[in-house]
Amino acid sequence: MKTLRIALATLGCVTTAPAMAQEAAVAKPKLIVALAVDQLSTDIFNEYRATYTGGFKRLTSGIVFPRGHQGHAATETCPGHSTILTGSRPARTGIIANDWMQPGQPRKGKDGKPNYEVYCAEDPMIAPAAGSAYTVSGQFLRVPTLGDRMKATDPRTKVVSVSGKDRAAVMMGGKTADLTIWWNGKAFGTYAGQEDRIPAALAPINAASQTKVAKGGLVPMPKQCARYARPVSLGNGASVGVIQPRKPKDERGWRATAEFDQATLDVALAGLAAHKLGKGDTTDLLAISFSATDYVGHSFGTEGAEMCAQIFGLDAVLGKLFAALDKHGVDYVVSLTADHGGHDLPERNALHGLPPAERVDKALAASSVGQSIAGAMLIEGSALVGRAMFGDIYLSPTVPPGRRAEAIGLAASAYRSHRQVEAVFTRDQIIASPAPKAPVDEWSLLERVKASFDPERSGDLLVLLKPYVTPIPDSTMGYVATHGSPWGYDRRVPILFWRKGMPGFEQPNAAETADILPTLASLIALPVDPASIDGRCLDLLAGKPSNCPAK
Ligand code: ZN
Repeated sequence: MKTLRIALATLGCVTTAPAMAQEAAVAKPKLIVALAVDQLSTDIFNEYRATYTGGFKRLTSGIVFPRGHQGHAATETCPGHSTILTGSRPARTGIIANDWMQPGQPRKGKDGKPNYEVYCAEDPMIAPAAGSAYTVSGQFLRVPTLGDRMKATDPRTKVVSVSGKDRAAVMMGGKTADLTIWWNGKAFGTYAGQEDRIPAALAPINAASQTKVAKGGLVPMPKQCARYARPVSLGNGASVGVIQPRKPKDERGWRATAEFDQATLDVALAGLAAHKLGKGDTTDLLAISFSATDYVGHSFGTEGAEMCAQIFGLDAVLGKLFAALDKHGVDYVVSLTADHGGHDLPERNALHGLPPAERVDKALAASSVGQSIAGAMLIEGSALVGRAMFGDIYLSPTVPPGRRAEAIGLAASAYRSHRQVEAVFTRDQIIASPAPKAPVDEWSLLERVKASFDPERSGDLLVLLKPYVTPIPDSTMGYVATHGSPWGYDRRVPILFWRKGMPGFEQPNAAETADILPTLASLIALPVDPASIDGRCLDLLAGKPSNCPAK
């Protein structure tokens, strides 16, 4: 009966009192499938939109918010993933970057020098197991995820989170997930101490993945990608743009293929089966973040045959996901977005009508700027810690407390006088500024910075580079392109929803990834205090009834 009413209501055939319509508008799905594609910018999503035949085709027939945003300035993987299922911006999640500095709490680095850096998905207080560089943990995340909230409300709920990257799986799964799995460089695994949770079906997936890495191979180029296949010189004899065979044992190369996304899907489906997601008495959650698109973007840029092949490969992987979910036989709702956008390498941008594109000047490294400030202040060493070239910049603990303001002033003017720097904000300035209220595509730079600022974790200065400046100084260092800027190409991500029987529509006004949690929560009548999040519920019903709670 309830299903019939939702069908009629969504077709706009039912006229009832508003409260009645509200109640009737949503039948709870049995399974929420929350997807992220690492570095899927709206630009890339739109570029191929007319040609999808797999999972993206189904998603584009659903509810499409093409102007979705990761609104904050620090458009990196960890902050981006922290917004998707928490309803909150990084200023609230506490995940301000992939890595940040704790100048007051140094650890001893491998070289014996103090190491101030912490990683967003680690617990620096727990010594890593043998063979690991750090202990994976969600302890830095300050807010509950959708899964944490669902389990707190109904402990029968099962939550599975899978990704190619630990930080993505952790930030989407939260602290109480039943199963959190990521690729650790050698195999798919989980938290230290939770190995007994790994489904038996993982062993053959790991074995097949390791065989693929060992053998090397060549990603097939779809016919539609031929027009992208033009070499772009990197200046060292190497080039990108044309798909090259992958050498044996090139694990990093394998990660930059849709085979990696396929393996991630295989793991997720193993988790789906092991926990019988959606088959119990309540709604369950499956979160998957596909990482290969990001590795392709970093390794080859966004406008070559490599990215074209990746997008069609991912489209096919998503098609297989939907086929498997259909076969699983439960009513499911899907959301898909990205942790950040992306930007092509400057060498191809320059060829493609964007001559101002360039690489960052090495002189902007905090170590260089810090040394010249220390020289001017007649103090030892560097006045700044780390090697960052933009973003959060931290004063060194060696700056005497009485001279911090002087050092901040000198650093701010040093950065401001550089031709590649767009803006510099001091910590006091950011703290004094209000949180953004306007639609996310209209935020000022300071508002974007504010949205990923945490007074305990953020830097003493926030440095923003000009548009089209790629913060990788040298194209011969490995990765050739990146994201992380406050500019549109890194902030714009698609936000898509699909559910069987839910009529599709396009909403071109801006939305935030922080809107996804309250939207999914509304579909399962999960109470969420609006004061505890930054996002708002998006109305997914094309007709008059709404899935969103009444105001
Ligand atoms: Zn990312």
